[in-house]
Amino acid sequence: MADPLHLVCPHCDAVNRVPGARLTQGPACGKCHRPLFDGHPVALDEARFERHIARSDVPVLVDFWAPWCGPCRMMAPAFEAAAARLEPNARLAKVNTEEAQGLAMRHGIRSIPTLAVFRGGRELARQAGAMDTAQLVRWMQPYL
Ligand code: ZN
Repeated sequence: MADPLHLVCPHCDAVNRVPGARLTQGPACGKCHRPLFDGHPVALDEARFERHIARSDVPVLVDFWAPWCGPCRMMAPAFEAAAARLEPNARLAKVNTEEAQGLAMRHGIRSIPTLAVFRGGRELARQAGAMDTAQLVRWMQPYL
């Protein structure tokens, strides 16, 4: 059996250890008892971002966006739908670059939306520009 996976709760940020075989069985957080995956992207500020990126054993697909960005707002429903398709094999997260400006700067986000995949604290891939749901799902395949 596979080693337990570390999963960061999207509700309370507790780090959970979940046996790999239970990943697809709707695991709940040991601390707050809410589902570890609920089919929705998690909105992360700077502090939460570091924890989720560093401690999650499943890849994290991050949408760097801003409220004033038209293409970002247009992509939001596609990103939401992609969360339902990709969970629990990936975590989808949104970072509002207006609020997390230091984070966006440290990661060299020059245009939005920018999509990036992280695993084990490392960035694996990045792409600027909006994608639809099918493109997001396809783009993630190598990292699942
Ligand atoms: Zn929790």
